[in-house]
Amino acid sequence: MRYSQLLLPTLKESPAEAEVVSHVLMLRAGFMRKLTAGIYTYLPFGLAAIRKVENIVREEMNRAGAQELLMPMVQPADLWKETGRYEKYGPELLRFHDRHDRESCLGPTHEEVITDIARKELHSYRDLPVNLYQIQTKFRDEIRPRFGLMRGREFIMKDAYSFDVSDEAAEVSYMKMYEAYKRIFSRCGLDFRAVQADSGAIGGSFSHEFMVLAKTGEDTIVICKDCEYAANMEKAVVKLTPETSTEPLAEMEKVETPGKRKVEAVCEFLGIEPSLLVKTLVFKADGQPVAVLVRGDREVEEVKLKNLLGVADVEMAGDEEVFKATGVPTGYLGPVGIRVRVVADQEVAAMRNFYVGGNEKNYHLKNVNFGRDFQAEAVADLRQITPGDPCPACGGQLKLTEGIEVGHVFKLGTGYSQSMNATFQDSDGQEKHFVMGCYGIGVSRVVAAAIEQNHDDNGIIFPIPLAPYTVIVLNLGVKDEAISAAAEKVYRDLQAAGLEVILDDRDERPGLKFKDADLLGIPYRLTVGNSFAKSGKVEVRSRRDGATEEMTPEEAVSVLREKLLAELMKK
Ligand code: ATP
Ligand code: MG
Repeated sequence: MRYSQLLLPTLKESPAEAEVVSHVLMLRAGFMRKLTAGIYTYLPFGLAAIRKVENIVREEMNRAGAQELLMPMVQPADLWKETGRYEKYGPELLRFHDRHDRESCLGPTHEEVITDIARKELHSYRDLPVNLYQIQTKFRDEIRPRFGLMRGREFIMKDAYSFDVSDEAAEVSYMKMYEAYKRIFSRCGLDFRAVQADSGAIGGSFSHEFMVLAKTGEDTIVICKDCEYAANMEKAVVKLTPETSTEPLAEMEKVETPGKRKVEAVCEFLGIEPSLLVKTLVFKADGQPVAVLVRGDREVEEVKLKNLLGVADVEMAGDEEVFKATGVPTGYLGPVGIRVRVVADQEVAAMRNFYVGGNEKNYHLKNVNFGRDFQAEAVADLRQITPGDPCPACGGQLKLTEGIEVGHVFKLGTGYSQSMNATFQDSDGQEKHFVMGCYGIGVSRVVAAAIEQNHDDNGIIFPIPLAPYTVIVLNLGVKDEAISAAAEKVYRDLQAAGLEVILDDRDERPGLKFKDADLLGIPYRLTVGNSFAKSGKVEVRSRRDGATEEMTPEEAVSVLREKLLAELMKK
């Protein structure tokens, strides 16, 4: 492609609207332009990078035996009503009426549509297993679209759905996808981890998120320093059964804590560590108040609480709501004689002689003990991991890090097939519900994540497999016949060698051409400049390590072909 003909509007300055480096660089490198919040036009260069990801995804999905189809973006509400998700999905689902006043929505995901296909087209165990996927534009009316392609409202996703005869067979399908995802993200040149994720009602270890490790990641992940254990913060298990203290039980006492409501203030006033205090926090679980007890220096993990209570939603209650439900002003709430349901983190049950709120303004209680002074409806792992906690797998030390979720594999079970009555006839003649799995990849997000991981102060440094073009030829003498002829020839020879090349034939200063080449992140730059007339040599430079070499154009073609084709053939 000739630069002079390419729609590649690079920007010198960082646009004010962009907060993270991938967003800044994708705007500066002319990947895309914003149409409205969270909705972008992919310009040719950005689209080319997206297509690279798509091709890798497609090859690996096909290799794993999945079949590509393409489902509609507009979906009838009736289908969503069958699974109850039309009501449950929340405002991310964009609902609208068509001209005949039929309720419709834009697909944020396609479980309903694919299950409808399955119930109509798959009849017998002989048709299974089947894994169907598409690469398609999704719409989610995200509350806070941000970071460019990282969290758009309209974005490109690969979504796959598997149908199996049994749980065991579904687990085989799951593992195939797990392996395919590892290959996909490795081939994209990304530093990633597959982490255990919350699988809600399904349970077990059949939900993994694929996380690209990057400081700007919106997810916190927990990694063991000593073994392979890796989990999303929401899921990370605190090592079970903390040791029960053997301290003798002391007598409960009331202590005055005038005006001290926050954990730090109470502890400072009493001269104790926060680990000697138990906080009582009120949450609304599907609207109903529940008090949760955790140690003073811990935080409640809402996903664990949600799973324990079996509700769809939990949310911290506000001060007024707490007062209404308990009759106690915030800061003084405690479990002894409390008016609402109580659940406790396992650590609390193992503590002795601790402090809690006194359920009375300006008072706390001392030497409180679980079992003797109060009860809980359930005792479970409810707190967030903190750095240094023991690993549930090996006992080693856990650490926290940030990740960008680029993929998610999930065993669905029979939830959708039951609610939509999607069945097949098994080998014993019985009608059974399909056992399903779903597998997503944020294709457009992968490009952003790759840039988060691969850039420097001058711009993008594309991993070779994702680069829209792998060589940029700079013609530094557009008015010089010999230089231009050599640049044209090497450009054509590189193309003939099977490489994707840009020829920078613009009548611009060399400095600007160098800057743009760096910004665009094209893996190799080949410069034909003044020294060509004297030496007959051109300069080849690697974007990643900056190494340069002088050689004849013929040598350059064979060197680049060898370096790049070898890399691109890796599968
Ligand atoms: P998140 O927690 O980031 O919102 P999710 O759990 O809603 O993700 P899934 O429903 O599992 O995501 O979708 C599959 C994949 O699609 C995700 O792993 C992610 O890579 C991508 N994705 C989800 N939402 C967006 C978005 N708003 N913009 C770009 N990519 C997205
Ligand atoms: Mg989401």
